[in-house]
Amino acid sequence: KANGRNILCQINAEVQARIQAHRRMATDIPLAIERSEIVPYYQPQVHVGTGAVVGAEALVRWFHPTLGILQPRMFLDAASELGLMAEIDRLMLRQALEMTGRLRSNGQILPSISVNISAARLMDPNLPNDIESYWTDKRCRLSIELLETIYFDEMRETPQISENLNRLRELGVRIEIDDFGSGRASITGLLKIRPDRLKIDRSLIQSAVADPTTRNVVAAILDMTHSLGVEAMAEGAETRADIETIRALGCNVFQGYAVSHPLAEAELAAYLGTRHQSAAG
Ligand code: C2E
Ligand code: MG
Ligand code: MG
Ligand code: MG
Repeated sequence: KANGRNILCQINAEVQARIQAHRRMATDIPLAIERSEIVPYYQPQVHVGTGAVVGAEALVRWFHPTLGILQPRMFLDAASELGLMAEIDRLMLRQALEMTGRLRSNGQILPSISVNISAARLMDPNLPNDIESYWTDKRCRLSIELLETIYFDEMRETPQISENLNRLRELGVRIEIDDFGSGRASITGLLKIRPDRLKIDRSLIQSAVADPTTRNVVAAILDMTHSLGVEAMAEGAETRADIETIRALGCNVFQGYAVSHPLAEAELAAYLGTRHQSAAG
């Protein structure tokens, strides 16, 4: 019994320590923003048939001075609770678009860049103006990725969201639904938002590889996107088998560890360089 209590105490102490570390970390987020420690990594998106890079997704990383590179799941909830998501998304948008400009001045071309947009940022009345001022090179297309839950939880009550989406469309920004099939997928929501592209969730792709029934469901989703005139892409392809399934389903574009992890800017530039050489040679 005493032993059991000791173990419980130990677990309790560990949990407490973790909660405290997390709190301390959260209070550092405003400072991290000030010190430019919040930076994007970029994951290439490629064409299934040709392997050509069609774009990249910007994914946030925190270069913490003592803890090293932190992944979004370690700090985005805290940032959201502190009301800092819109600011983080703004910084990501600006840096991602500056990056495409630097690539081009080095003679490299990224056809498209995607940024993730939180509900808070989508409600931000400054979003369209920020996009107008940061997006100077229109030869690189710009997509925003929204979670499918946005049209349930926030859109109904917040007219600013529809206003923003309309202005973004006028500016030529493409609208994508992220992680499609992981949350509450809704046909009504799709018809309302009319996205340019659906990103089919990694969990669906993974189970489609293993299970014929899920494969049929994904095939049906692809049929539906077709009839709606919406593009589809797959996320989270980790193996050759995953890529083969995606190809067999007729989905043309994907991203995943099978091709590349998210990369630092210099690594992305190097990656584009090697792709270019192999395409030429
Ligand atoms: P997401 O937008 O769906 O991004 C894809 C996530 O899947 C990324 O994780 C990426 O590293 C990971 N991934 C890519 N390929 C594979 C694969 O083959 N296998 C596996 N297991 N994972 C793969 P990451 O970078 O940790 O981002 C997690 C989530 O955090 C993102 O999911 C997105 O919802 C959120 N997020 C990231 N950056 C931002 C941002 O700048 N703003 C906002 N609002 N959310 C962001
Ligand atoms: Mg990750
Ligand atoms: Mg995304
Ligand atoms: Mg996703």
